Amino acid sequence: MNLQHIDTIVASATPPGRGGVAIVRISGPNTQSIATKILGHVPKPRYATFSVFRNETGQTIDEGLALFFISPNSFTGEDVLELHCHGGPALVDCIIKSILTEGARMARPGEFSERAFLNDKIDLAQAEAIADLINASSEQAVRASVRTLQGEFSKKINELVEGLIHSRMYIEAAIDFAEEEIDFLKDQRLIDNLVGLMQQLENIQATAMQGSLLREGITAVIAGEPNVGKSSLLNQLSGKESAIVTDIPGTTRDVLREYILIDGMPMHIIDTAGLRESTDKVEQEGIRRAKKEINNADLILHVTEVGESQSEYLSMGVKANRILIQNKIDLTQTSPTIRQENGLTIISLSAKTGQGIDLLKNHIKSCVGFEPTTEGSFSARRRHLDALARANEFLQFALHQLKEKRAGELAAEELRQAQLALGEITGEFTSDDLLGKIFSNFCIGK
Ligand code: GDP
Repeated sequence: MNLQHIDTIVASATPPGRGGVAIVRISGPNTQSIATKILGHVPKPRYATFSVFRNETGQTIDEGLALFFISPNSFTGEDVLELHCHGGPALVDCIIKSILTEGARMARPGEFSERAFLNDKIDLAQAEAIADLINASSEQAVRASVRTLQGEFSKKINELVEGLIHSRMYIEAAIDFAEEEIDFLKDQRLIDNLVGLMQQLENIQATAMQGSLLREGITAVIAGEPNVGKSSLLNQLSGKESAIVTDIPGTTRDVLREYILIDGMPMHIIDTAGLRESTDKVEQEGIRRAKKEINNADLILHVTEVGESQSEYLSMGVKANRILIQNKIDLTQTSPTIRQENGLTIISLSAKTGQGIDLLKNHIKSCVGFEPTTEGSFSARRRHLDALARANEFLQFALHQLKEKRAGELAAEELRQAQLALGEITGEFTSDDLLGKIFSNFCIGK
């Protein structure tokens, strides 16, 4: 793409606040002239140079290290200067102000990464991995993001695209040149190749799914009648006292949210108001919100008391996975168990003593398909999963066209569509709107 950017941008690359060192980063065509004004010289590229930083009137603002990277050998592909100053917010402001006076403008969120992408230094999946790495909430998520940043995900996509192009060219050549077109299209090798590509794609989908779970996690709702122990379960899962536990029914009137990690997978837990008929206006509103959350969740933890009958909400037509929890086994002095009844998983546990909580956590992982030990996973986002799913559909159509209808042209077109869908992941075919949306979610200085 190699778009020429006219303006030079500046931002603090370190978070606001006080610290030992802060880094101010500049990128663009005026970088060298700004270096000359602030430092009195352009530092030797890729060498840490101790320098005095001066403002536009020649006053010393600070002293520290300057690092210069000459285009195209820099993160953005443009001339880049990093000033490592002392880490004080007022000081960083002074330095940025001087740089703005010398002909730069403030960078937009994610603009450094966007330039790196536009200058072909990284692809879109790698740019997203930078944001994911910074936002990673567990060691597993860090490892997955680094693998995507290093190009593991894109490499797999590119290999798949290569395979698609190869098969497409084969089909197109068969259509254009063959006398007996049908023989070419019946060629078992072609079908085998496409089946192989489908397998490759499905492997990527499975790995990407793990990456997406590590990044986005799941939303679980704790539902059930008042006083069965929903808030206690939330506290037990999160390991802290976030919900008010009382023996007065209807204590939890609003929706409480908690965030925990299960082997690195984020789980957003929502504790809802007890579901029951109520004349209390506040409680009714709580119940209305609870029902809304239940409809949007990935997983419902339906709590009842051991020995109690199941409430009406078990028969409610909800799409999410559901686990029935029979709480308070300490009262009946029974051991925790997990069993299946009519396709429903029932776990008996005690939210008070914590017995059986591990059974629940393990079952949650298995029912959302999370395998924390999967080696070689890479970070992926929902938009990547969507693109992979679309590519899978197109590939299936292509196979169908070839096998059932021997319609080479239609199959080639399906393969082209699959290729376009995959290209959205690496940013080869991506609309400006989507790019704007992706980079605006980055923070400033990235
Ligand atoms: P919620 O209204 O469903 O959120 O229920 P709470 O978590 O507020 O609990 C209601 C009452 O049941 C409190 O007195 C809790 O201490 C008690 N409770 C919750 N879980 C257990 C349990 O596993 N065993 C026993 N014995 N009591 C429990």
